[in-house]
Amino acid sequence: MAYEREKQIAIEAALVAGKLCEQVRGNIPPAMEKGDKSPVTVADYGAQAVICKALSEAFPDDPVVGEEDATELKSPEMAENLTKVTNYVKEQIPNATPEQVVNWINKGNGKVGPRYWTLDPIDGTKGFLRQDQYAVALALVEGGEVKVGVLVCPAMPVENNQPGMLYVAVRGEGAAMMPVAGGELTPIHVVKPDDAANMRFVESVESSHGDQERQNAVAKAAGITAPSVRVDSQAKYGIVASGQAALYLRLPSPKYPDYRENIWDHAAGAIVVEEAGGRVTDLYGKPLNFADGSKMVDNRGVVVSNGVIHDQVLAALQQ
Ligand code: AMP
Ligand code: MG
Repeated sequence: MAYEREKQIAIEAALVAGKLCEQVRGNIPPAMEKGDKSPVTVADYGAQAVICKALSEAFPDDPVVGEEDATELKSPEMAENLTKVTNYVKEQIPNATPEQVVNWINKGNGKVGPRYWTLDPIDGTKGFLRQDQYAVALALVEGGEVKVGVLVCPAMPVENNQPGMLYVAVRGEGAAMMPVAGGELTPIHVVKPDDAANMRFVESVESSHGDQERQNAVAKAAGITAPSVRVDSQAKYGIVASGQAALYLRLPSPKYPDYRENIWDHAAGAIVVEEAGGRVTDLYGKPLNFADGSKMVDNRGVVVSNGVIHDQVLAALQQ
């Protein structure tokens, strides 16, 4: 099967990263602040390190376009944090040194090209810090199209089991999920319109990451009357792909009209939903463009649905 090795390596690497994140979450440290004021934790760095190490060994020629960069972590004032990151990495990779950790993180400074991986080591850092949802998100893009996507959501509730769900998709082969605690990959499908209980919509917890007023109005226009379910991170894509919601709306925040979405915030989630039978576009119905850079400069907002209601949602957005 196509991309079988990529899929297996991506699953293994994302699960190791998820374990590292859960160890940090059990003993949550104060967040550090990046230059753009967004929060970052030792887990963001540690997760990027373990995934970039695995990818660079398995696919040495593939660039990785990751969210984090070790420049700030290398500064003398951050020495204590680098030690902490290294100690967490060592629980997964026993002989890791601080120098290796910095080098692995910086392997995530790659650029988009004919074939590349994109990685958000912790998507939803704010959710992670609140002990809510977050995701390790990893995708392979080739020829401008996402081919493989893995989402590990360590805090996702799982019936009769410990929390933690993994979602995976390979282009043309469907989507599946598996509890992080172990088990089998089970195929997943988006919700059918007659499943009234799941005809809900999801949006961000962070009101500044969208436009909740407009999102509610558009959902209503598409026939969804239940209040939204607010969830951090690409866990929202997992929820739509597994049929627990019909729609995920992420409309541009009126506060940040010039914001452009990052490829690592959507690539893995998008293929999981598409392979589960759903549809993903921007608010004008344009496909998300993962080919031209780390920001999707030509796209505005993101609309993710079970497919059936997609045109109705796009029509409501044009009003
Ligand atoms: P979520 O948990 O779905 O709200 O998404 C978290 C992601 O939102 C982070 O990884 C950020 O990259 C992204 N983000 C930050 N600011 C904005 C914004 N103004 N609009 C949309 N997304 C944003
Ligand atoms: Mg993110």
